Amino acid sequence: MNQPTSPPSELPPSPVMPTIDLSAPGIGHGYLRLPHSSNESAWGVIQIPLTVVANGSGPTALLTGANHGDEYEGPIALHKLASRLRPERIQGRVIIIPAMNYPAFRAGSRCSPIDQGNMNRIFPGRPDGSVTEKIADFFQRYLLPEVDYVLDIHAGGKTLEFLPFAAAHILPDSAQQARCEAAMRAFAAPYQVLLLEMDAMGMYDTAAEMVGKVFVSTELGGGGSASCSTVGIAERGIHNFLIHAGILDDTPKGSDSITLHMPDTRCYSISEQHGLLEMCVGLGGPVTKGQVLARIYDYTHTGVVPTEYSAELDGILAGRHFPGLIHNGDCIAVVAVPT
Ligand code: CA
Repeated sequence: MNQPTSPPSELPPSPVMPTIDLSAPGIGHGYLRLPHSSNESAWGVIQIPLTVVANGSGPTALLTGANHGDEYEGPIALHKLASRLRPERIQGRVIIIPAMNYPAFRAGSRCSPIDQGNMNRIFPGRPDGSVTEKIADFFQRYLLPEVDYVLDIHAGGKTLEFLPFAAAHILPDSAQQARCEAAMRAFAAPYQVLLLEMDAMGMYDTAAEMVGKVFVSTELGGGGSASCSTVGIAERGIHNFLIHAGILDDTPKGSDSITLHMPDTRCYSISEQHGLLEMCVGLGGPVTKGQVLARIYDYTHTGVVPTEYSAELDGILAGRHFPGLIHNGDCIAVVAVPT
């Protein structure tokens, strides 16, 4: 086992050890191995599956799923890729980690059951922190410095459902933003979104962008499962992303995306009730300002008038709360503006 690099840092080395050489040519299937002593396994380890496919010289792409453990398009598409991708088909290197927050993925939950860690709010992590912090630190100090292109496949998870879109961020460096936007377009999801991240602190996205990488994320479906359609979008997008990176020599698949804008907070409806949710618009359906998006019923009484939530701008319904019950503070609906 060997660490891919010795990062210049005052921090102690990562306790995470790859079980395969990440720089070896050919194909390797192994783990990121993290010691974790628990009631169930005294001298145990957490083993995060990974595959590295490498051939010749060329860029490196890092592909991840299950940054949030209840999102499944990434894990499915990346397990398929790990079984199928042949070294002779590529120039460069592809690092495939189907379940980045592996303990959360094993539990079918957004955050880790070990430390409640939300992988996308915990960067840069710590080598001497909690399990989730240790995994984040390994990505921050050992993996990100080694790679050129980063694709992190998200979906809505158990509590949200989205139109399938790829996303890039509005960045201070316009040249880097242009590179990220080009990679987002190459992914060719049915929809694409350029986001100004309001809550960027601790995100994997931010960690990758801060060190100058080409970063693309997605929201594909949701509801805590994956569909035939959304898995197909993920597979096609990965294929196109690797072609765009210059790693895979093949023909891109799919067509142009519809660009969506989420200009301000009017896009997001937040619940102020606890109750039974009736969505009044289907995902992707047109919405006009003032139109009722959802009703929330106080199910503790009959004969009570429901609270209505209306659109604050014209657009389409791009995201919705997924479970049938909703709480105060939950996101009910996301309206986006097509251009
Ligand atoms: Ca997510």
